[in-house]
Amino acid sequence: MRRMQTLLKTYRDDFPILQKVLYGKYPLVYLDNAATTQKPRQVVEAMTEEYYNVNANVHRGVHFLSQKATELHEASRETVCRFLGARSTREIVFTRGTTESINLVASCFGQAFMKEGDEVIISEMEHHSNIVSWQLVQARQGIRIRVLPITDDGRLRMEEYEKLFNERTRIVSITHISNVLGTVNPVRDIIRIAHEHGVPILIDGAQSTPHMPIDVQSLDCDFFAFSGHKIYGPTGIGVLYGKEEWLDRIPPYMGGGEMIKNVSFEKTTFNELPYKFEAGTPDYVASTGLARALEYVTSIGFDAIQAHERDLTAYAIRRLMEVEGMKIYGPSIEEHDAVISFQVGNIHHLDMGTLLDRLGIAVRTGHHCAEPLMRRLGIEGTCRASFALYNTRQDVDALVAGIQRVRQMF
Ligand code: PMP
Repeated sequence: MRRMQTLLKTYRDDFPILQKVLYGKYPLVYLDNAATTQKPRQVVEAMTEEYYNVNANVHRGVHFLSQKATELHEASRETVCRFLGARSTREIVFTRGTTESINLVASCFGQAFMKEGDEVIISEMEHHSNIVSWQLVQARQGIRIRVLPITDDGRLRMEEYEKLFNERTRIVSITHISNVLGTVNPVRDIIRIAHEHGVPILIDGAQSTPHMPIDVQSLDCDFFAFSGHKIYGPTGIGVLYGKEEWLDRIPPYMGGGEMIKNVSFEKTTFNELPYKFEAGTPDYVASTGLARALEYVTSIGFDAIQAHERDLTAYAIRRLMEVEGMKIYGPSIEEHDAVISFQVGNIHHLDMGTLLDRLGIAVRTGHHCAEPLMRRLGIEGTCRASFALYNTRQDVDALVAGIQRVRQMF
């Protein structure tokens, strides 16, 4: 742990924003990493460098800069491919983020493979992006959404999972880690069981990719979605991994430049994978930023990141439990990822969040884009502290001290 503390110092120095002092006196304690992470210099500088020295539209030009930009963009795709352990770059589609990746699958898979009365299985702990995307398909095509319930301590009720399958089940779409409860779902079992029923599965990896190594071939999921900005990369870029056999079989998402081979008014043919799903000018500078972010994380290594974040989460849960009236949602420490949702007595989460902010502590408040989960828990919202590799035990101590101060005010 001592070595980690020393390493941490170096990592923290990579994130200039962490030096910020808020309201003229409080050092920033940034605990809103599940919403978005801060960006290291390596990411920001690579993007600035590209804008200053390379910028040109990709895939279309014979000129020097366009070729250079294309090389960078495609090299980034290779980095993502290695990071996810995908078979080929044909399986890596750049999107704007997890939301767009899920919408793409719901819309295109739905169009190709779902008829009225066909079913998708999701869970009670999904982010709105993995609920509403399917509701749009429901409105258009009359599909049915089946919901896997959770236990009171926020785990999927796996004994109910098998029972949801029937001859109308076409796809499963489930989150890897809950952005509210921090529950790490048993995705290997979830994927295996789906396949035993001959059903493909999408994993929402928005909250898992920053915290654990992902190997899509070993997981054997059919689709996997994540966002760049939650893993120290830029906003506006994310990834949809899809097995080639599925991406080949589903129609394009949007029409436009890049995604076509030939266009006539009578008949258009589509480009090969993955470009069939990438209509229009891609964010080729953000893809560079994302690649640098993934390299950054890989260079630190998930062993070190996980050891540190597990220690921090366990420490935070222990310290938070010292606070009178503290309720922490989600499973026990062992099954808990670096996200902690809590409520203190009857202090409204919005008051708590606002007052913590005045002490320089950034936490998230509200329903965390998971209103059905809030309803299941019988609450309106929570305060949520979420950790990244640069957070420290001092951050946790500041949070606990802050909560104690707020509590005294009430
Ligand atoms: N799924 C989960 C589990 C998330 O936590 C989030 C972001 N909070 C999303 C999907 C949506 O990600 P984005 O807004 O980056 O598209």
